[in-house]
Amino acid sequence: MTVSPHKSAQHAGLIVDNATVRYGETIAAQEVALDVAPGETVALVGPSGCGKSTTLRAVAGLVPVSEGRIMIRDREVTRERSASRGVGLVPQNYALFPHMSVAANIAYGMRARGVPSQKRQRAVADLLELTSLTSLANRQPAQLSGGQRQRVALARALAVEPSVLLLDEPMAALDPQLRGGLRRELGALLAATDSATLLVTHDQEEALALGRRIAVLRAGTVVQFGPARELWEDPVDAFVADFLSQSLLLDARIENGCALLLGGRWRVPLSSLRRRQSVHEGTRVLLRPESLMVVAEPLADDGGSVLDVDVLHTEFVGDAMHVSLRAGDLVLMARVPAGARLGPHLRIAVRPRLADLLVGAP
Ligand code: ADP
Ligand code: MG
Repeated sequence: MTVSPHKSAQHAGLIVDNATVRYGETIAAQEVALDVAPGETVALVGPSGCGKSTTLRAVAGLVPVSEGRIMIRDREVTRERSASRGVGLVPQNYALFPHMSVAANIAYGMRARGVPSQKRQRAVADLLELTSLTSLANRQPAQLSGGQRQRVALARALAVEPSVLLLDEPMAALDPQLRGGLRRELGALLAATDSATLLVTHDQEEALALGRRIAVLRAGTVVQFGPARELWEDPVDAFVADFLSQSLLLDARIENGCALLLGGRWRVPLSSLRRRQSVHEGTRVLLRPESLMVVAEPLADDGGSVLDVDVLHTEFVGDAMHVSLRAGDLVLMARVPAGARLGPHLRIAVRPRLADLLVGAP
């Protein structure tokens, strides 16, 4: 696992130090290690059931950590009760109080902490403005759209001036058409807070847009944690490559100016690959959908540089088609021009300079 600590902060906002969470026999999070600096947003991604919500609940103190520690602002809170941790949580369903107005929902945490009324009212007014909800202050949650509810939940979490802000799939309940705009709004809001934000999503686009660093979780374990760009360019394994960029990561052997893939069945000339130094072990080739091209005519002597594939599925994406292809037990994705006529069998090759050779750390 790669850990890239944030350097500029005087103190860490949040450190999850090898935390393990069990539900009876089930280990839902195993030695999870990550850190979030004040003002930073880290995206926590992974497939359904991999332990994302569990990790948030452990930070919030809603489930006990059986091994490891939770540190907030350099203070260990592992055994502290939830309310005293300085954490604001936006649960997946927002969990707004249905019988309370927007303003009362936002004020709830401050009221519970005994913040005096005048101060509370000022803070609520500021938060309403920050989240563009001023004109809706007296409505009840049932009278709001999904996006507005999400902003109320966010304002309510921010109201306690949390050191750590936890967002559990904040866009999941929203219409896909709304997500782009709300994502930009949320990004601007997060950029304006000093909270260390841990944002759970299973949407790779959202992770890349909002997380300066990304932690990828699989089956309760962090498999890679680092800057978004590093995960994009230098994934630790095929799972991370596939999850973040629908890319394929293939082991390669270098021989006679070629990268040998699929046990030597596919020979890609090194001259057609971009060479990158990897921080991970082994020599691998990273193939993105745009890395592959369809070879129209059989070449007289291709030297093994083309691969015979079967077409599994074709999907139009506006200006192009995404085609899933099978070669043996391998499935590849290729992006081809819209309107290309494709038979059931194709020959493909690597598009020059659009695939990366990742040369492992010595
Ligand atoms: P995610 O948020 O990534 O979808 P969760 O953290 O909710 O995943 O769940 C991780 C694992 O823990 C899953 O296998 C899930 O079934 C299990 N789990 C979650 N909550 C509970 C619970 N309260 N009791 C028992 N098992 C649970
Ligand atoms: Mg979840």
